[in-house]
Amino acid sequence: MWLVCSLRCGGTLFRTLFAEVDVDSGGQYQGHRVVQPGYLCLNCGAPAIDLGAVPDAMQEEEEEESAVTSMDVLCPICETLVSVFPGEECPNCGAALELV
Ligand SMILES: [Zn+2]
Ligand SMILES: [Zn+2]
Repeated sequence: MWLVCSLRCGGTLFRTLFAEVDVDSGGQYQGHRVVQPGYLCLNCGAPAIDLGAVPDAMQEEEEEESAVTSMDVLCPICETLVSVFPGEECPNCGAALELV
């Protein structure tokens, strides 16, 4: 987790919002549950953003994009081995290719 103030005021202290803390009968901390993610900059009161979650989200998107890879297929029309992405036509003769 890497919290930053959304106004970039330089504040380094943040308060968790919407977290429910469980305690036992003696008031001992038992655990907590984040009802809704949210943090507040204690310096200026602006909402804070968790930058630590951003790289993860970006990496997931990259992995999805790289899942689409070009394939080597033998064109049935011009009988040329071509490298195409799914949905593309033969770059040599323009014939529609069916990728299996
Ligand atoms: Zn701030
Ligand atoms: Zn072709």
